[in-house]
Formats: sequence, structure tokens, C-alpha cells
Amino acid sequence: MSLSNTAFSQRRILNRFQRAAVILILCTLPSGCSDNDYLTSINGSSTFALVNAYLIDGTGAGAVANSVVIIEGGLIKSVGTGNSLHIPLSVETIDLKGAYILPGLMNTHVHGAYNESNLMEWAKTGVTTVRDLGNFSTSPEQGFAFRNRVADKNEYSRLVAAGPMVTAPGGYGNYPVTSVSDAFYKINQLIDQGADLIKIAIEDNLQGRTWKMLSLDEIRQIVKTAHSRNRRVAAHISNSIHIKTALEGGVDDVDHMTYDYVPDSVIASMVQNNIYWIPTLELWKGVSDRYGNNYITIAKNNLGRFVKAGGKVALGTDFDGYTTPFDLGMPITEIKLMKESGMSLMEIITAGTLNAAYACGMDDKLGSVVPGKIADLLILRSSPLENPEAFLNIKMVIHNGQIIKTY
Ligand SMILES: [Zn+2]
Repeated sequence: MSLSNTAFSQRRILNRFQRAAVILILCTLPSGCSDNDYLTSINGSSTFALVNAYLIDGTGAGAVANSVVIIEGGLIKSVGTGNSLHIPLSVETIDLKGAYILPGLMNTHVHGAYNESNLMEWAKTGVTTVRDLGNFSTSPEQGFAFRNRVADKNEYSRLVAAGPMVTAPGGYGNYPVTSVSDAFYKINQLIDQGADLIKIAIEDNLQGRTWKMLSLDEIRQIVKTAHSRNRRVAAHISNSIHIKTALEGGVDDVDHMTYDYVPDSVIASMVQNNIYWIPTLELWKGVSDRYGNNYITIAKNNLGRFVKAGGKVALGTDFDGYTTPFDLGMPITEIKLMKESGMSLMEIITAGTLNAAYACGMDDKLGSVVPGKIADLLILRSSPLENPEAFLNIKMVIHNGQIIKTY
């Protein structure tokens, strides 16, 4: 049941006690009324408070009971507990009844995000931001125009767009640069057109197929140009021999776990250089399932040792990056594979929130539940610190301060 516009606007000026009375009356009408109607009506207010919840804030700090989060104008206004934070009487409250508040999750390695139905599917399952690392279906300008068109639609996941994958002529990827000076020109052009970050390929041999590769000087020029304009550089790598190139080139993140063994010394260099790793274990599981190889076993071993060494991980699956199956929406397969690799559920949450926000270059706006950040929240009915299945037990999704889905 939905309320008429007139009734809706009238209700906005009632205080929360009067609203409760209205809800009570409406719910006694023959058609009845669900929790969802009540919660949807709250979207008429730009300010509301979530109360009586556990808060897992995305920073790696433990869950805090009896938490209160006040949302105003799409942002997180204040965070505290029922004992410490005063909620003005004029502010609508939602009793979460012991549910778990997390920052909205982010999948930092997807393809196929220039697609409205995919963006809706991600958003409604609490994946409120996706980072697309390779648009192969439209021109860069068309892709960035799509990103701009959907940016203010709260029912869609936020699209962070690299545009095409930069490579050498005849290389793995779809946006060739021919020289150091061409790299300077083309990267500036991509950023002028609207690229949120730059994705490059460091790949010459995968499953028997071979490609030409960017030179180290070209990679350094790409990174220098992108960084001078405050954009991160993400690198496709699948083989550990290319990690040295990524390190020397100065990229910010490596966008697959490698499927061959990474020596501990190389892991130590990555940790020392603060290079983030985006594992895409779901990709390697799909490849191993199909071809009967041990890529996933080795990738999980590499990830476990990287995390143990203090390496920073951001969650990413490579959705639609290969013909094997991928979860659209909640990346539950990836979460379970990360856990099997030795990551704690708290480490996985941080990988999917604050670390993911860093990889997107948006950690000042997203990824943790602190005042001033955008109110993207995933609310789960059970504890995601006890069982990964909790990620499928969703109660509510809030995107840009709007309740976009209740379950
Ligand atoms: Zn990919």
C-alpha cells in the first residue's frame, strides 16, 4: 500500500508521535499496511535516526551495541549510542531491533556496470558502489555520459568509471597508447572526458594467448599523468612476474590475485609500497572449475600470506569480466572465498568498505560510518562477524541517505 501524495506531504509536518498515530490508524484499514510502507514514508523526511543497532563502522573497530546513526540531507550527521547521543524530538526514529549497520558495500572490480538493471540489482542488495574497470561496449564518452545520467538515481549503485582498459597497440585491453608522449596525451584526454580513474593492462600471456605490453616508461607516464590529476591507476595483472613492473610503475592497486605462487619477498614489497590488492577469487574459482586447474588454490594461498603480512585488500570480483558465472548483487561467493583464504570476517568487511572506498579514490566520502560521509548503509538482520550467510540476510539498504529497499 502506498500513501497518496497529499497524505504524504501532510504527514511530513507531523511530529513522530502524531505520525505513529497516523500509521496506527492507516494500518487498521482493511488493506492493512506493512513495515515497508512506514519506512518508505520516512524518505519524505531528510532527517531520521537509526536506533537500537549494532554498528560495524568499516574501520575495523569492533561492533558497538545500542548504536544510533542520525542521517540528514543524504549525509551521516552524527554517530553515537542511545546513552550518549541526544535525538531531537522532531527527528523520526527507526528502531532496528538489534540489526547490524555497516557502510554500503563496494565491488571494486566489475565490468558490465554501464547497465541500468545491473546497477539496480547491486544497489538493492547493499552494494551501493561499483568500480567498473573496463568498458568494452561503448565509446569512453558514451560511458561517462551514462555514468553522469545515473549519478543522481538512488535506486542505482554508484558507478565509479575507469572507461576503457589502457594498453599497448595489439595489447590486452582496448585503448592503445603508442609512446610516452601519447600516454601523456591519451590519459589527459580520458580524464577530460570524465574518467574517475585509469585502468591499465600489464599482461602478455594468459591461458596460451599472448599480447604486446606497455613499456615501463609508458606505465610511469600514465601513472604520473593520472596522479597529477588526482586519479588512481589500477593494473590488471594475472602473473606474478609482472608485479615488479607494477611496483616500479607506481600503480595504486593490482586487480587480480595472481594464479601462480607469489614469493614472500614480493608480497613484502607490495605491503611496503602500500599497493592494494583486489583478489577476484570468484574469477579464479570459475576458471578452475571449468578447466580443472589449481588457479584458485594458489590465489587463495597468495591472498592469505598477503593479508598475514599486513597487505591491504579491497573487495572485487571481476563480475562480467569472463564467461564464467559471477554473483550479480551481493558478492557472497567472493566473501566466502576470502574467508577460506584466511581473512577474518572483519577484515573482509573492511575490504568491502573503507579499503574499497580508498581504491575508488573516495575514502573521504564513503566507506565508513562517520559524520560528514555520504549515508550509504547496509543493514543486516544477523551478525556478519559470525557467519558470512548474514550478508544475504538483509533488512534495509540506504543509499545517499534514502531508504531504497527494505526486506
Ligand atoms: Zn576485469
